[in-house]
Amino acid sequence: TRTPVNVTVTGAAGQIGYALLFRIASGHLLGADVPVRLRLLEIPQAVKAAEGTAMELDDCAFPLLTGIDIFDDAAKAFEGTNVALLVGARPRTKGMERGDLLEANGGIFKPQGEAINAGAADDIKVLVVGNPANTNALIAQSHAPDVPAERFTAMTRLDHNRALAQLSKKAGVSVADIKKMTIWGNHSATQYPDIFHAEIAGKNAAETVNDQAWLENDFIPTVAKRGAAIIEARGASSAASAASAAIDHVHTWVNGTAEGTWTSMAVVSDGSYGVPEGLISSFPVTTKDGKWEIVQGLEINDFSRGRIDASVQELSEERDAVRKLGLI
Ligand code: NDP
Repeated sequence: TRTPVNVTVTGAAGQIGYALLFRIASGHLLGADVPVRLRLLEIPQAVKAAEGTAMELDDCAFPLLTGIDIFDDAAKAFEGTNVALLVGARPRTKGMERGDLLEANGGIFKPQGEAINAGAADDIKVLVVGNPANTNALIAQSHAPDVPAERFTAMTRLDHNRALAQLSKKAGVSVADIKKMTIWGNHSATQYPDIFHAEIAGKNAAETVNDQAWLENDFIPTVAKRGAAIIEARGASSAASAASAAIDHVHTWVNGTAEGTWTSMAVVSDGSYGVPEGLISSFPVTTKDGKWEIVQGLEINDFSRGRIDASVQELSEERDAVRKLGLI
């Protein structure tokens, strides 16, 4: 039998955590033949709620789940971790300035980066979900100097999946018929979902749809503001779809992208497509054998260039702000 993979989830008692843990334990994160051991991190006030979720996980009798440990100490929670899902974050509350938000999250992601550096397994892979995800990932990564920078990623897979859903409705096709969707930049309202390289049943998606007004006034804002629309409709923020995207992100990273397509992940830039080196920005990536690569050689038209630059500019500003605060 295989040795269990240690998966650490932070913010385990939150909404996303509740939707995420059961899918990890049932084999959707890593595969139906991979046993997992869960390590849950919570703040002290939420440990009891995490214990309740752990009781429910026990009651599912998942054959792949070999154990659950709960911690309120990051140093312990990341010991021996192979996959870390950093979901817990400080949400923006009324009257909070962006600097306050970045600072509060620095207080969370700096010690977590240090703990990963000190104790995680050699093959550690990190996905940051908690917002502002790209910059939180940058903070954690900068405090884990012994871990290769490419192991720290942030989630834009939900944006990617939302873009697939919108395009499939517009074109009247199944999401399975769409390949090579791309999200560029920051997981924020400035993100750029790009269909100029996407394909619908093998044909260029932008040409197939051929509707620039829809692209600019409908598709892009709908994808970028979907989170707010869900809060408005549901009275609570998206949680199951965010958890599902986190599952997809890690599953694709570990198991590889299919031939002839790619996915979107926020990863450390090597300067590709004019994105300053070191920023954690979303790109089209392929994955194989547990490693990602940025898709090279795509032609970027003027419309896309402007959108990518605007989102990357926001990431640069966030980096400058956390630098000023001494967080990186
Ligand atoms: P959720 O589980 O709903 O969300 C957690 C984080 O994911 C938030 O930062 C949220 O950002 C982010 N997120 C990213 N994408 C999405 C998306 N598409 N939809 C919704 N959220 C998204 O938050 P809860 O408040 O229910 O739970 C958070 C938990 O984290 C609490 O139990 C808290 O105790 C814990 N926590 C743990 C820490 C730790 O382990 N050290 C530190 C801080 C908190 P946004 O706010 O922008 O929606």
